[in-house]
Amino acid sequence: MRRRHLLLFLLLASCASPHVKYPPAPQPAPAPRPAPTPRPTPGPVTPVTPPTASGDIAFDTWAADFYPRAVAAGIAPATLDREFAGLTPDPRVGNLDNHQPEFSKPLSDYIKGVVTPGRDAIGVRKRADVPQFDFIEMSYGVPREILLGIWAMESGFGAIQGDFDVVRSMATLAAQGRRRAFAEHELIAALKIIQSGEFSRAQLHGSWAGAMGQTQLIPSSFLSTAVDGDLDGKRDIWNSPADALASAANLLYKGGWKAGQSWAREVSTPAGFDWSLSEGPKLTPLEWAAKGVVRADGLPWTDIDQPVPAQLVAPTGARGPVFLLFPNHFAIRKYNNSLAYALAVGLLADRYSGMGPLVKPWPQETPLSLADRMTAQRALAALGYDVGAPDGVVGLKTRAALRTWQQARGLTADGYLSLAMVQKLTAETQPPAAPTAAPATGPASAPADAVPPAPSAAGPETAPSPPPR
Ligand code: CA
Repeated sequence: MRRRHLLLFLLLASCASPHVKYPPAPQPAPAPRPAPTPRPTPGPVTPVTPPTASGDIAFDTWAADFYPRAVAAGIAPATLDREFAGLTPDPRVGNLDNHQPEFSKPLSDYIKGVVTPGRDAIGVRKRADVPQFDFIEMSYGVPREILLGIWAMESGFGAIQGDFDVVRSMATLAAQGRRRAFAEHELIAALKIIQSGEFSRAQLHGSWAGAMGQTQLIPSSFLSTAVDGDLDGKRDIWNSPADALASAANLLYKGGWKAGQSWAREVSTPAGFDWSLSEGPKLTPLEWAAKGVVRADGLPWTDIDQPVPAQLVAPTGARGPVFLLFPNHFAIRKYNNSLAYALAVGLLADRYSGMGPLVKPWPQETPLSLADRMTAQRALAALGYDVGAPDGVVGLKTRAALRTWQQARGLTADGYLSLAMVQKLTAETQPPAAPTAAPATGPASAPADAVPPAPSAAGPETAPSPPPR
């Protein structure tokens, strides 16, 4: 950090001098580099020549602006000149940025689409393909079933890794601005990988969002976390399943994974359960048992799980399956901070371990349109409940407000926003209809396929509290 500040200071100092193209950032050698564009007029001038000429003004402006920041972060000008030559934004990346299926589908549909008998069978077969699993489990404490779940979710066991040029994708996202800080950070990390010679630009391919290889690590995670799982001297997450899976295990380990503990367990709740406890306190299974919460399969808790604080969630409300989430659930969310994603990985892992289906099946959910969700948030706000700024994202705050409202109305206070709840909220906040008015049929005036708002970089949830370490 201190070093970065110093470099930024040097950068700013250098900007005062009209002919300095780059700040005196670390440069590997006095390698020849293109001479700065001669400027005929003396006096204060822009210190950096735009490195691209894509024809897209926003992109070229961003690139010129980014150049000194990259140099300050340790990227040699020669590297930048080479990698930015002829660079243009990728129109596919901008389009995809707004469509992540896990955030626009009801959670139950998402899980049902992921945890399928076909995937179960492939996962069971795939475990035989990685002779290094014993070594990986011993090194990081993460069971192979969880890693198989991640492998399945991230790339279909290596089949779908993405063919996007990661440098171009990150430059596109950075230039668009919505995820600039994230994208520039990852772009710099990608340039560092290239500059180090570990992998070439052509080898750095991945998803539109910069996730690379069989377990889809973003460049900064690759730099900090990727490891050599097959001990051949390279950490090739694209071509070596062992490298990709060991790297994923390392990421979970660094995210607080605790060997031997469950990731979550389905539980059953007693009649009259106080649903305000969902998404609330972290209690041990023994403390939950005192409230009537027991394992749904009727088995006792393991000695290892018994003292571990766990959070109760009912992702599809009181009528769907209920889980106690252990710290390992939150370690999975270091991969992708989405409850749905982490449930999918964990439930796949359970199937690979030979566990049967959930005791309580997923209910049929009615998809809510953006208008439905906004209507509910505005109604809660009008009734005095704090939902933050109504944005159509049903996050922790909205669910907490909904629970309090449900409790005050004598409803099942599970914080689940169903269409019935949207209608009740609307009825409560709409002025009384004139006697001649047609009977209200509910507020769902927008089409059910209305595009939801794009998720934040951290996913649709407000970040959970970090797992206890
Ligand atoms: Ca290797």
